[in-house]
Amino acid sequence: MTSAAAPDSAVRLSRRDLLAIDDLTRAEAIALLDRAERFAPLLSASVKKLDTLRGRTLINLFFETSTRTQSSFELAGKRMGADVVNMAVRTSAMAKGETLIDTAATLNAMSPDLLVVRHASSGAAALLARKVSCSVINAGDGQHEHPTQALLDAFTIRREKGRIEGLTIAICGDIAHSRVARSNVRLLTLLGARVRLIGPPTLVPASAARWGVEISHDMRRGLEACDVIMMLRLQLERMQGGLIPSQREFFWFYGLDEDKLRLAKPDALVMHPGPMNRGVEIDSRVADDPRVSLIEKQVRNGVAMRMAVLEALACSRTTGETEP
Ligand code: ASP
Repeated sequence: MTSAAAPDSAVRLSRRDLLAIDDLTRAEAIALLDRAERFAPLLSASVKKLDTLRGRTLINLFFETSTRTQSSFELAGKRMGADVVNMAVRTSAMAKGETLIDTAATLNAMSPDLLVVRHASSGAAALLARKVSCSVINAGDGQHEHPTQALLDAFTIRREKGRIEGLTIAICGDIAHSRVARSNVRLLTLLGARVRLIGPPTLVPASAARWGVEISHDMRRGLEACDVIMMLRLQLERMQGGLIPSQREFFWFYGLDEDKLRLAKPDALVMHPGPMNRGVEIDSRVADDPRVSLIEKQVRNGVAMRMAVLEALACSRTTGETEP
């Protein structure tokens, strides 16, 4: 990667890639949130484009479908002035059986600066990162991590509540299959929040006992004193076998409706990374209530947050190392 004139205020990161929240120190995470705050007003300005990443190339490589994340990275890249290429995975050589490693070599030959990857296998982004010379951003790998989702969630919470430290934040539902949950647990605990996981025993992994969080299998009790409630999608596509008796029963015990919401703090706010299963993990009356729901703000804030991440990765490092 060639050197670029980085703005003095760009965040400097010690790692080349953003594969998981552990790639960031607490200070780096806070600096990224602060930087996103600077980009947020730009999104409602009439001219939305900066030229910080002019001449840089961002490749979006999504092996799993995505509405929000892919378009958010595309917009963020374009607003920073980068050339953005969306690889059409289904119609490319990858659909003909090319391995991830061959794909990496092909992409590397095109000398991109930033590669955003989503893949159904945990660890795929890390594997790719070892084979290319540019910065890799994990946009979701299997059940492992989705670090920019956690950053945009933390950014949204801090904007609405003024802080993260000391808040009680519940993450509810299908924890077991959720990369959003894993990244959020890491980041929110790093930033000083008290995190409570709420879900049925079949959907809370045993390893969560070591994540430094509270665990509750009773949603009504678990919601007590919560400042923020983050609902997760029931990820039926990743479930093998009947982990829940039925979606109706799941909603009865773990779906967030107005009655259960009343058990949290009176000023509690509700989040969901999307896509939502309405009537399964969240009731429309809660999801669509602008007094409590941050769901649209999460999407809007996601672009500013990703602008900060792209800028930081592109401007922090001028050389990359590749495995032979
Ligand atoms: N969009 C998020 C993800 O890709 C959450 C979800 O799919 O439920 O992990």
